[in-house]
Amino acid sequence: MSDCLFCRMVAGEIPADVVHETDRVFAFRDINPQAPTHVLVIPKEHHRNIGALGAADPGLLAEIVSAAHQVATQEGLVDGDTTEPGYRLVTNTGPEAGQSVDHVHLHVLGGRRMAWPPG
Ligand code: AMP
Ligand code: ZN
Repeated sequence: MSDCLFCRMVAGEIPADVVHETDRVFAFRDINPQAPTHVLVIPKEHHRNIGALGAADPGLLAEIVSAAHQVATQEGLVDGDTTEPGYRLVTNTGPEAGQSVDHVHLHVLGGRRMAWPPG
């Protein structure tokens, strides 16, 4: 998708602060961080949201979740087998949830105490 921001970042046409990459997964720092650690984890292949990705390729959905945990570990948000101090995974679907980029992405958020329920 040549008009998709995240596809263009995967293609190297727009710069990204990459923290993790495999042949199928790409993770980079959010340009407008909402927490001390704020990384976006995406499949390189274009899928518009998590439901579409899960329907098309459940294995790839599992890969981005695993990658998100790996990023959280590498960022010091979880230590070995413990879940301390912790992190939050968010994926927004549709306008009411605040989705602004129609290429599925997991927000990995951590480094501060998070409110629950979210606003
Ligand atoms: P969402 O609103 O859930 O669709 O999340 C989209 C996220 O992409 C937002 O948190 C933006 O700050 C982030 N974003 C937009 N453009 C860029 C960019 N060029 N590099 C990194 N993150 C971006
Ligand atoms: Zn895309």
